[in-house]
Amino acid sequence: MIPVSFDYLRPHTLEEAVDLLARHGDDAKVLAGGHSLIPAMKLRLSQPKVLVDIGRLVELRSIDRHDGKIAIGALTTHYEIESSELLRRDCPLLPEAAGKIGDVQVRNKGTIGGSCVYADPAGDWPASMLALEAEFEIAGSRGTRTVAAKDFFVDMLTSAIEPGEILKSIQVPVTASTTAYTKFAQKASGFAIAGVAAVIDRNRQRVSVAVTGVAAKAYRATGTESSLQGQAEFSQEAIVAAAEKAAEGIEALSDIHASAEFRAHLARVQTKRALELASSRG
Ligand SMILES: Cc1cc2nc3c(=O)[nH]c(=O)nc-3n(C[C@H](O)[C@H](O)[C@H](O)COP(=O)(O)OP(=O)(O)OC[C@H]3O[C@@H](n4cnc5c(N)ncnc54)[C@H](O)[C@@H]3O)c2cc1C
Repeated sequence: MIPVSFDYLRPHTLEEAVDLLARHGDDAKVLAGGHSLIPAMKLRLSQPKVLVDIGRLVELRSIDRHDGKIAIGALTTHYEIESSELLRRDCPLLPEAAGKIGDVQVRNKGTIGGSCVYADPAGDWPASMLALEAEFEIAGSRGTRTVAAKDFFVDMLTSAIEPGEILKSIQVPVTASTTAYTKFAQKASGFAIAGVAAVIDRNRQRVSVAVTGVAAKAYRATGTESSLQGQAEFSQEAIVAAAEKAAEGIEALSDIHASAEFRAHLARVQTKRALELASSRG
């Protein structure tokens, strides 16, 4: 289908982009990689009157390490994350998750910022963001604010970004941990039916497990985490018992791709696999 007609604006600085959004209010939408927004516009599920294309803002496209944190610009593509030497060394969970997104074209055009802001329940990034306890730096006409991952993913297709705001960057702490991202993907698109990010602190003092694709929004599997907390060694029995709690208290989604029961089952299976893999990498 063809989208309704819209005006196209291309700012050259972040400041200009924020001004344009403030001027056009609810009529405007940010365009990044366009791989979620354009399909939604073609289906007329989204009908912005103005598109503010931030695609040329190079200041939002970077991967840097400072003071024990890695800052990833919102416009960084999935492929740039997948192929980043810095991330492969200091935060390998992100390249591993990026490499499992969609296909080559999606990874070359889609951005981490667009994906997190869109908050698709089947998107891959929210699981890694929650497990790594990332922070989101957001710019708006009233300045910059920071939102923790646990507060950023609000609901299905709803993130903490307000109209007029632009996600600038995502900060992830660098920790001595072993990690893994595993998923059961929808065959045609690659979207997660169940995707699990596991982060095991080297001294086993902290385990984070987050699940995407299963519920309306990604979540931390707290039952799984507390089952393993403080254990010196992860035996196979301990991992199996912990993974059984991966969908505890969760209202799983049901659609043409998977029933709620199957999704909950996949959450448990993928959690077991992610924990085994992260554990073996220790
Ligand atoms: C065929 C196909 C397969 C896919 N498979 C997968 C998959 O396996 N896993 C997966 O996770 N994703 C998948 N995707 C989605 C893909 O990752 C998208 O690129 C991503 O969800 C959106 O990123 P984008 O840069 O394209 O954002 P856009 O489509 O440009 O924007 C998405 C939304 O975010 C807003 N936005 C974008 N950037 C910002 C910003 N910096 N600040 C404020 N608002 C912003 C836009 O206004 C819009 O509402 C797939 C998409 C397609 C088309």
